[in-house]
Amino acid sequence: MSNHQSEIDAFMQFIVKKNPGEVEYHQAVQEVAENVIPFISDHPEYKKTKILERIAEPERVVMFRVPWIDDKGDFQINRGFRIQMNSAIGPYKGGLRFHPSVYLGILKFLAFEQVFKNSLTSLPMGGGKGGSDFDPKGKSDNEVMHFCQSFMTELYRHIGADVDVPAGDIGVGGREVGFLFGQYKRLSNEFSGVLTGKGLQYGGSLIRPEATGYGCVYFVQEMLATRNTDFKNKKVVISGSGNVAQFAAEKVIQLGGTVLTMSDSNGYILDEEGINTEKLSFIMDLKNNKRGRISEYTKKYTATFVEGKTPWAIKCDIALPCATQNELTGDDAKTLIANGCISVAEGANMPSTPDAVEVFLKTGILFAPGKASNAGGVAVSGLEMSQNSLRLSWTREEVDLRLQEIMKNIHATCIKYGKHGDKINYVKGANIGGFVKVADAMLAQGHV
Ligand code: NDP
Repeated sequence: MSNHQSEIDAFMQFIVKKNPGEVEYHQAVQEVAENVIPFISDHPEYKKTKILERIAEPERVVMFRVPWIDDKGDFQINRGFRIQMNSAIGPYKGGLRFHPSVYLGILKFLAFEQVFKNSLTSLPMGGGKGGSDFDPKGKSDNEVMHFCQSFMTELYRHIGADVDVPAGDIGVGGREVGFLFGQYKRLSNEFSGVLTGKGLQYGGSLIRPEATGYGCVYFVQEMLATRNTDFKNKKVVISGSGNVAQFAAEKVIQLGGTVLTMSDSNGYILDEEGINTEKLSFIMDLKNNKRGRISEYTKKYTATFVEGKTPWAIKCDIALPCATQNELTGDDAKTLIANGCISVAEGANMPSTPDAVEVFLKTGILFAPGKASNAGGVAVSGLEMSQNSLRLSWTREEVDLRLQEIMKNIHATCIKYGKHGDKINYVKGANIGGFVKVADAMLAQGHV
C-alpha cells in the first residue's frame, strides 16, 4: 500500500460524494489519483492550487433532449450530452458515443481520460466527450440521419473548430460523422473543421480510420522492442470487430502476427488458422456495410463461434482488448498470464478492470493503458485539424509517419515518468506524463 493511501482515499470520497452513482467515472479518477497524488506531494505548487480537484470537475456539461421520428412515424426521445472537460492546452476534443448504455458517468470517464491522452499526443488539444443513449443497431440509414440531424440541431451552438471538435467513438463512424457534419454546415452556414473523422471528399484525413488500431499496434511494437522482440509469429487475441479492432488486426497481419479472434457483443470467433487479409475484408464488409454479427464469419470460414464469452481464455502472446470498458476482468488477466501472454495493450478505453490492471502490474508484463496505446486516433484527428486549418491534405505516408512518431514519443514519455530500475510502469508513466502539461498550463492561466 502506498504511503499516500489516506490522501487518495480522502480524495476519492470527495469525488464519489460529488458524482454519485457514476461508477465508471470513479474508476477512471481513482486510477489517475493513485499515481498523481504521490507525484503531487513532491510538487507543492500543484497541491496548493488544487489542480487535480480542478481537473476532476468538468469545465462545462451540456445535456439535451433529442427528439426524432422513426420510419414508422413514431416519436422517439433520446438524451444527448457533451462534456467539455478541460481546455487548458487547446479546444475540447474527443469523440461521440451512441450506445444504449451511455449516461453521464460513462461520458465523464471518457472525457477525463481524454484530457490526459490528448496531452500525451503533444498536440494542442483539450479534452471532451459526448454522445447519446441512442442505439444505432437495427436502425435504417434514414433513421440514423434523422437522429444525427436532431442531435446536431442542439449540439451545434456548443461546438466549433476553435471551441470543441467532436469525432467518432462506439456507434459513431464515417456515416454518422457525415450526417452530423452536414447538419452543422446547414445551421452555421460555414464549412469548417468542426468534426474529425470526416470523409476524404470533405476535409477528412488519410489514415484517420486506421489510426487508433494502427497506433495501438505501433505502441506494442515499441514495448516489444524493449524486450528485443516483435510481432513476427506472435499469436494475437483481439476483442471487438469495430473500427479499432479492424485496423489493429490489419496492422498485426502486416507485421507478421497471427490474429486468432475477434468479437462483438454476442460473443467471439476463434480461427485457429488465423484471420488473414481476405478474411478481414469479409469482416470489414460484414460490420461496416452489412452491419451484421460476427457469428456470420463461421458461415464462410472454418472457425468456432463462442456465444456470450470474451476471448481471453485463448492461449496467446499478445492481447488487444478493443471493444469496450471493463471487458477484461482480474480472472481473465490471471488466465492470460498463466497462458504465457507477454503483452496487453488497450485499444478500447478502460477495458481492463482495476483487478486486471493490478494483476498486469504485479506480474510486470508489458501492459499499456488506453490513454497511451489508443491515443493514435485522436492524434490523427489533431492532424486532420491541422490539415483543415492549412487547407491542405497530406499523403497517406506522411500521416502514417507522423502517427508512428507520435506513438514513439508517447512511449518515451511513459518511460520518462514510469521507469523503475529495469521495469516500466506504463500506467504511471501515462498518468503523470499526461498530467504535467495540463497542470502547468492551468497554473500559467491563473484561477481557471
Ligand atoms: P465501434 O462501434 O466501431 O466498435 C465497437 C466494437 O465493440 C463492436 O465490435 C461492438 O460490438 C463491441 N462492443 C461495444 N459495446 C460492447 C459491449 N458493451 N460489450 C461487448 N462488446 C461491445 O467502436 P470503436 O471501435 O470506435 O471503439 C471501440 C473502443 O475503442 C471504445 O472503447 C472506444 O472508446 C475506444 N476508442 C476508439 C477510438 C476511435 O478512434 N474510434 C479512439 C480511442 C479509443 P457490437 O457491434 O455487438 O456492439
